Amino acid sequence: MENDHRTHVVIFPLPLQGPINCMLSLAELILSLSQATISVTFITTDAATSRLTRHSDVGARFAKYGPRFSLQSVPDGLGPDDYLRGADQIGDVTDYLATQALDAGSRLRAMLTHGSLWGQSDRRPVTCIIADGFFWFMVDVAKELRVPLVYFDTISPGGLWTFLCVPRMVQLGELPFRGNDLDAQVTSVPGMEGYLRRRDLPSFCRTYDPNNQFILHISKEAVYYPRAQGHILNTFDDLEAPLLSHMRDLCPNLYTIGPLHSLIRAKVEPIASKNASSSSLWEEDRSCLAWLDAQPSKSVLYVSIGSLAVMTRHQLMEFWHGLVHSKSQFLWVRRPGSIIETGHDDEVPMELEEGTRERGRLVSWVPQEEVLAHQAIGGFLTHSGWNSTLESIVAGVPMICWPCFVDQQVNSRTVSEVWGVGLDMKDTCDRVTIEKMIRELMGDQRERFAAKMDNLTKLAAKAVDKGGTSYCNLDRLIDDIQFNRFPMPS
Ligand code: UDP
Repeated sequence: MENDHRTHVVIFPLPLQGPINCMLSLAELILSLSQATISVTFITTDAATSRLTRHSDVGARFAKYGPRFSLQSVPDGLGPDDYLRGADQIGDVTDYLATQALDAGSRLRAMLTHGSLWGQSDRRPVTCIIADGFFWFMVDVAKELRVPLVYFDTISPGGLWTFLCVPRMVQLGELPFRGNDLDAQVTSVPGMEGYLRRRDLPSFCRTYDPNNQFILHISKEAVYYPRAQGHILNTFDDLEAPLLSHMRDLCPNLYTIGPLHSLIRAKVEPIASKNASSSSLWEEDRSCLAWLDAQPSKSVLYVSIGSLAVMTRHQLMEFWHGLVHSKSQFLWVRRPGSIIETGHDDEVPMELEEGTRERGRLVSWVPQEEVLAHQAIGGFLTHSGWNSTLESIVAGVPMICWPCFVDQQVNSRTVSEVWGVGLDMKDTCDRVTIEKMIRELMGDQRERFAAKMDNLTKLAAKAVDKGGTSYCNLDRLIDDIQFNRFPMPS
């Protein structure tokens, strides 16, 4: 029997933990708020689907939407294994997905057109595509299919804005860098004058080579990205007003709907559900919540570098010494595969083992939103991924930032210099600095950071509350999808 939902949205994230989290939240919001008139096809890779099926509650969570929700999966060109693809493989995966999406006879193309394989569809043709902003090829695909495209770039608006300003930086001679001074101010990124230094730009900008491949590639983003018919960002207007006003000049149909994980609470699962729903690609260790229950209020530093960043064995030992010597309690996520250069000198000094037994807990993956919301958590040593940053703001937890790549260098600068809700450890990783910063964040300076964070946390809550900017922008997005108010791609 033909499914009679008039509107059919395809959601197509980059197959990584952060984008998948955000896009599943968006799928759920669309399904639950659109009064049964919109159906959603969620496309990801075989590897991500296999892990989602095993480790998350996605099946149960979306079962209530019946045939209106469909999870479809495609190969990523790296083979059938379901190990998680690393940061260095995302370029290859994207290139492969591009060849498939641009091939009119491919499986992926069939899904982007009908939400399932040719001839197997019981659905109406796709009427809107929401794709990751990293998928440059989707502008051409949407144009060919004559379907409106909405880009959802799940990195921070600050990071994205620096990407979009790369051609301008090149034109004005700020890129590639001349000279070695990473503390020199960057002046050609509108809205970030006065606080952005070279070292705060995404790490691929650290080049003296005018033909750097990454710079050439990112320069294309400024051309294709604004060509979509709409743009979604996971932020809220009060958090980044000056920046967003510049972005609106380039992309006028902008929907700021963040913090998404909080908006979903406000709109779909109000308070009733005790545990946040999970989109995890790793098995969550929930026993750490019982350990947290036994710790005093705001006494524990939570440590995690997210789903993609890695650290060397040497950096691990610096972190470990700093943590133990700070005398703070800590809950430390060591994701499988996140420590490189293992195998030699794996011995751990006795003082670290003892310090960890007394005050620490090591885990491989946790339900992070729940951990951050726990009363025992007083600080977050983070890699400054955008989801982690927003989750920390919503939970009111100040941060120590150790950024690695993409938007993280920009985010950590914003956390420390613009919002004043944490410390930026950028480009250093030594035990003395780590210990000192932990003592500041958890001790001496706690009140200073807490006061500023409290202000941001309240603004975030206001944005997702009834009548708030993100609350209203989501309604507008759903209306625009439902009544197809987008211009046709040209
Ligand atoms: N996360 C989690 N459990 C962990 C560590 C991380 O659920 O043990 C989640 C976290 O809540 C966030 C996502 O993984 O939603 C990481 O996204 P982020 O943008 O912070 O960083 P990325 O992993 O993309 O670098």
